[in-house]
Amino acid sequence: PTDINTLADEYLRLAYHGLRAKDKSFNANFSTELAEDIPLLKVKQQDIGRVILNLINNAFYAVNERRSSGDADYKPEVKVITRNQKNWVEIEVKDNGTGIPDQVKSKIFQPFFTSKPAGQGTGLGLSLSYDIITAGHKGKLSMKSKEGAGTSFIIQLPKE
Ligand code: ADP
Ligand code: MG
Repeated sequence: PTDINTLADEYLRLAYHGLRAKDKSFNANFSTELAEDIPLLKVKQQDIGRVILNLINNAFYAVNERRSSGDADYKPEVKVITRNQKNWVEIEVKDNGTGIPDQVKSKIFQPFFTSKPAGQGTGLGLSLSYDIITAGHKGKLSMKSKEGAGTSFIIQLPKE
């Protein structure tokens, strides 16, 4: 049985420090808002960990991109929120990064779609994540995004 809050919290720190180690100028605020009453879930812990890590890495990338493109007042933020719903445990990864253009939204879950420069993205993270959550765990993975404002990815995992 897996404690989703611990998993989310650990991967958030891991991702942040990993990026800092590679790039000393990398900087972002990150925070959590973790519901205290989340039940332990029987999930494939490594798979769910991979999904969370991919969403968090994408979020840090997006805030870093937006930061690099100018605005001195911009404050990069990545937040992980967990919620205990009636039939689901929800994990939201939220950023105030570049956002996803409307014409790109339908492509992001396709294998090999990436908007990153060669060598920086495989385009496999989200398609793999989608399979792990839907086929692998009978859950849902959805996205809300506004170009120039930010993005949220929401994982919903069934309690049963
Ligand atoms: P990769 O990270 O290797 O590019 P992914 O499957 O993880 O592959 O993501 C596919 C694409 O979806 C990214 O290249 C990017 O265009 C878009 N994307 C994913 N997450 C975000 C995000 N948080 N903010 C903006 N764009 C995103
Ligand atoms: Mg990715």
